[in-house]
Amino acid sequence: MQIAVVGGGINGLCSAWQLALAGHQVTLFERDQLMQATSVASSKLLHGGLRYLEQGEFRLVREALQERRWWLKKAPQLTRRLPILYPLYQHSQRARWQLKIGLWLYDSFAGKKGIGRHRWLTAVQTLRCSPQLKAEGLLGAYLFFDGQMDDQKLGLWMAEQCRKAGVNIVEHSPVLKIQPDGELQLTGGKLKFASIINVAGPWSSALLQQSGLMAAPLDLVRGSHLLLPAISRYGHMLEVPGERRIVFALPYQQQCLLGTTEVRQPLDDPVQCSPAERDYLLGVYAHYFTPAATPEQLLGSFAGVRPLLAGSADASRASREYQFSWQGKILTVSGGKWTTARALGQQLAAEVNRQF
Ligand SMILES: Cc1cc2nc3c(=O)[nH]c(=O)nc-3n(C[C@H](O)[C@H](O)[C@H](O)COP(=O)(O)OP(=O)(O)OC[C@H]3O[C@@H](n4cnc5c(N)ncnc54)[C@H](O)[C@@H]3O)c2cc1C
Repeated sequence: MQIAVVGGGINGLCSAWQLALAGHQVTLFERDQLMQATSVASSKLLHGGLRYLEQGEFRLVREALQERRWWLKKAPQLTRRLPILYPLYQHSQRARWQLKIGLWLYDSFAGKKGIGRHRWLTAVQTLRCSPQLKAEGLLGAYLFFDGQMDDQKLGLWMAEQCRKAGVNIVEHSPVLKIQPDGELQLTGGKLKFASIINVAGPWSSALLQQSGLMAAPLDLVRGSHLLLPAISRYGHMLEVPGERRIVFALPYQQQCLLGTTEVRQPLDDPVQCSPAERDYLLGVYAHYFTPAATPEQLLGSFAGVRPLLAGSADASRASREYQFSWQGKILTVSGGKWTTARALGQQLAAEVNRQF
């Protein structure tokens, strides 16, 4: 079957790959270059998402942990196992027993072939791992493991797998309209496909709207990161004081990657870290580390927009699940995480085969 995939982020690439492996003739259209939008603005974690356990997202966490293992195994040159500290203070919001249960579940979901089991570190051991953490009130930390990636290089590696499987990748080719009968309009003319996969991330609803079709609302939530001088070879998962949110401070390419934020924004607003987000992140950093970081020490910043399934008033509690919806021959993908992109692609290919 001739299938068009619209969008060259990680979800588009993994979908195209799985469709090609299932025997379809796939053409992927990307309006700019591959891997230049949301998929390169991530926290660079291949993770189950420990905090989603609190929200009861067991299916998602289990799937993401299986997928974490797959990426680490298949692309060891672009991924690594990352030790992460969850420091606990006298004033922490979560009790040690709560974390213990969460981490036990996390390790269990990862299965026997997990990447290392969690353990408790005393305050002295914790400070040895991360000397800049504040010592006052520190009870200790849980040490656990997740995966870390170079998201751009790993996405381009997936593009390579696509090409090997026969996917025709067309960059700098914006899709202007798609129709339920399989018609796809480009600047140069119209093409007809047996199916069109709309996996344009935050722009998937806009593409339907500009095609005159009904579009389910997406929650567009900006997430920003700061780059600061390196502090430790361990990652840190930090409770934001006074909120249920967490912020990561991660070692990344000889720097410290600090993020992220959750700010709702319209699609056409610039996707960049605002001064308020910068101050918010530096505030969290100053709460945990000494000395605090100043704006002058900033080495850079970047931001991306999460295309989340609409429905939660609190963006941090919005589901990271993905969803498929058909309109004639168009299959639109909403939501999702980087880590689960291959699983999304597999289920999408199965869904297409079921439909036709
Ligand atoms: C701040 C932040 C941190 C995150 N951290 C993590 C993390 O650590 N781990 C994790 O697993 N997940 C993370 N995520 C989630 C993950 O990054 C996203 O779920 C994923 O990258 C979405 O990929 P995508 O392919 O759907 O979208 P995108 O990467 O945005 O790709 C969509 C593509 O479609 C193209 N496009 C749009 N319209 C058209 C058109 N009309 N014609 C042709 N092409 C078009 C765009 O140019 C773009 O390249 C994070 C997300 C954010 C925002």
